[in-house]
Amino acid sequence: MKTSSLVKVTKAEKSKIDQVDFDNLVFGKTFTDHMFVCDFKDGQWQTPEILPYQPLTLDPSAKVFHYGQAVFEGMKAYKDTDGKVWLFRPEENYERINKSSARLQMPEFPRDFFFEGLEQLLNLDKEWIKSGQADGNALYIRPFVIASQPGVMASPSTEYKFIIICSPVQAYYTKDVKVKIADYYSRAANGGFGAAKAAGNYAGQFYPTRLVQEEGFDQVIWTDDTTHEYLEEAGTMNIFFRINDTLVTCPTSDRILDGVTRKSVIAMAEKLGITVEVRKVTVKEITEAAANGTLKESFGSGTAAVISPIGTIAYKDQVWDLEKPENCYSATIKKAILDVQYNAAEDTFGWRHEVK
Ligand SMILES: *Cc1c(COP(=O)(O)O)cnc(C)c1O
Repeated sequence: MKTSSLVKVTKAEKSKIDQVDFDNLVFGKTFTDHMFVCDFKDGQWQTPEILPYQPLTLDPSAKVFHYGQAVFEGMKAYKDTDGKVWLFRPEENYERINKSSARLQMPEFPRDFFFEGLEQLLNLDKEWIKSGQADGNALYIRPFVIASQPGVMASPSTEYKFIIICSPVQAYYTKDVKVKIADYYSRAANGGFGAAKAAGNYAGQFYPTRLVQEEGFDQVIWTDDTTHEYLEEAGTMNIFFRINDTLVTCPTSDRILDGVTRKSVIAMAEKLGITVEVRKVTVKEITEAAANGTLKESFGSGTAAVISPIGTIAYKDQVWDLEKPENCYSATIKKAILDVQYNAAEDTFGWRHEVK
């Protein structure tokens, strides 16, 4: 294990790992023994610390509670069959959390604090990362930044906390997702902060999502806020469509999160010889393709599940079920990406990062 003078480490007295049933994990409910915390005050980031996982104490007037100045990331660590630990494109998450922070008028976090803190944390809690690609065993990593300055004046905080917590997870084998295309609500607007991984984007999604859930769907397919004619994201995932044998996804914009999985799916699909088009996707073409059978597949992409196949798409009063085609793109691309993540295949793109 690397030692570092950057991070001050206080170890937990006793591990909680014996109390955890690793075969029956509920996504995001169990956390490891340690957390990484770094405070921003007096205009700079203070000494980063690793501490036993514990509650935070914040003043009730702390700005995060009132103005939602908060951003986060989602990434995973994987253990291969030799017990080595790997991260997948962590540089992307580091850069993205700073982009999200910048959009919410929050300070940039230093690269060495992020990587040393993360790697030390993973080393300390290594036992919590189980190998086993077949079961989807991994450690979900949640870095986040909150505005901690007390005071309800509506201005950017002068104090922040950058925290990393980790949660052991398994693959969740759910049924194919049922989605409904939004024709009224939006998750993001032009000039807004939909491209930032900001807590508030999620808060705004819960209500429209509940409305479609009451109709028997799982998620909303978000459309552009101006015309609702263009398809943009599926719930909290980027979205892909296979029309005949071409894989189509929309370009990123102010309103669309630039997903690491999305980028990886595009690159991997191309490597597998699949034609990929990154262009605007209209509601009209997708509903017509669903109706005439040329829409062969659709899926969401995101860190948690890599790829979530969509089984049903609805728009207004119409509902289409998608049959799984032979030579299913979603299954092939998902397996190829998982093989890279678990160090079970050659990493031709240089995506893997070993935690030493
Ligand atoms: C996090 C997120 C995604 C997926 O991003 P990944 O980097 O692939 O995990 C897609 N859409 C939204 C809105 C997100 O918040």
